Amino acid sequence: MDYLPIFADLKGRPVLVVGGGDVAARKIELLCRAAALVQVVSSELCTKLQVLHQTQQIEWLATEFDPTHLDAVFLVIAATNDHLLNRRIYSEANIRYKLVNIVDDRPKCSFIFPSIVDRSPFVVALSSSGTAPVLARMFREKLEALLPTCLGQMASVAGGFRDIVKQRFNRISDRRRFWERVFYSLFTNQKSVGNIDEAIHTLQCELQADLNSEGEVILVGAGPGDSGLLTLRGLQMMQLADVVLYDYLVSDEVLNLARRDADRICVGKRAGVHSVPQEETNCLLVELARKGKRVVRLKGGDPFIFGRGGEELQAAQEAGIPFQVVPGVTAATGATAYAGIPLTHRDHAQSVLFITGHCRTDGDGIDWPSLARVRQTLAIYMGTVKAAEISEGLIRYGRDAETPVAVIGRGTQQDQHVLTGTLAQLEMLVAVAPTPALLVIGEVVNLHEQLAWFQSSNRRRNFSLPLSAWLEEKS
Ligand code: SAH
Repeated sequence: MDYLPIFADLKGRPVLVVGGGDVAARKIELLCRAAALVQVVSSELCTKLQVLHQTQQIEWLATEFDPTHLDAVFLVIAATNDHLLNRRIYSEANIRYKLVNIVDDRPKCSFIFPSIVDRSPFVVALSSSGTAPVLARMFREKLEALLPTCLGQMASVAGGFRDIVKQRFNRISDRRRFWERVFYSLFTNQKSVGNIDEAIHTLQCELQADLNSEGEVILVGAGPGDSGLLTLRGLQMMQLADVVLYDYLVSDEVLNLARRDADRICVGKRAGVHSVPQEETNCLLVELARKGKRVVRLKGGDPFIFGRGGEELQAAQEAGIPFQVVPGVTAATGATAYAGIPLTHRDHAQSVLFITGHCRTDGDGIDWPSLARVRQTLAIYMGTVKAAEISEGLIRYGRDAETPVAVIGRGTQQDQHVLTGTLAQLEMLVAVAPTPALLVIGEVVNLHEQLAWFQSSNRRRNFSLPLSAWLEEKS
């Protein structure tokens, strides 16, 4: 972080501005909005500053700059076009440990002014640390449009209730929950948006209401890796979480979107690697929710697709704990979309089957004849270990050994690998693909060559190759 964002309380505190032109005036207007005691050193003042001086909003020192001016101020801003003077002000300020800003000369700034969205007392400050001011401005405009104009009023009303709420709820977690509920209704209930009386009424009602300190379980699909594929609702739930239980399939990129103070517990699951047994995870979910926690159970892809999400919810339901589910983009749709392989296509496949290569040992026998049908795509999860059996079984039941296949490793992530070949080569492809990997079998795989778009500039760098080319490169 190049600059530490801090919000300075300058009310009644002296600040020195050297320069009396329009540029200085813009900074002075901001300082006046923050009620700073502005002292202006300049031989003359522009019209705007003359008005501020006449109305006694600023103090004018009509002299030359002198280092002693710095002694009794908190900050100094120089907006003169005299480079030597600016340099002098910068070094004199540093000697005296005063924060200094030489306007439009970033190397000579120990603090900078961010772009501001002002809904006082709610203020958003953003900065690109001087690297891309236009980008910062663009986002400022987006925030301007996004933040309701009544935000400040609502924050003020809430501020007036802080002490009462503190008395009413001893625990920080209860207070947080109270405020979440209040703000949720303030900004979603049309009647109270921007209506102060109604906002006060809402707050009073909520104070009387019993705080529901019952925990809940929210099953959230994290998608296959790219955080952009998380749903908006998934993100909202992660922001409300007290605890996040996640497994290895959840990318760091997604996990980092959880509320900063939420506890994170890994209940990893990876084929062949020791992991927390399912029963233990179920018990943990129930135990945490019983303590009144809002537990987000974050699962790779979609929680109801080969994710054992159903079993976890059954445990919550049996324990009488409320629950919700937020679906996610499953690996079969996410990874194939990023690999440019449409799962169905009028010319190649009329149906798609999502199947698992890992069956319960006590599970049903595999229906090979229906899996081996033509004009259908197979998307196989957890299929790497059984790749040889899968290709052998399908060929035995009539699927052509030349059927195109793809193995998509780490789909949708920056290091996604797509390896293509034939059904007969499946085992070899799997051996070189990174995990987790999805197997895709069917003619639609041929479209990859034409439709691959993700990392397309990297394609020649070995991320997406037919097996033969890959082996050639390796040798
Ligand atoms: N609930 C998850 C699937 C869990 S089963 C979902 O809906 O996606 C785990 C299997 O999913 C892995 O063995 C792999 O086959 C597949 N998988 C998960 N993430 C993947 C990814 N980013 N790329 C390719 N395959 C993935």
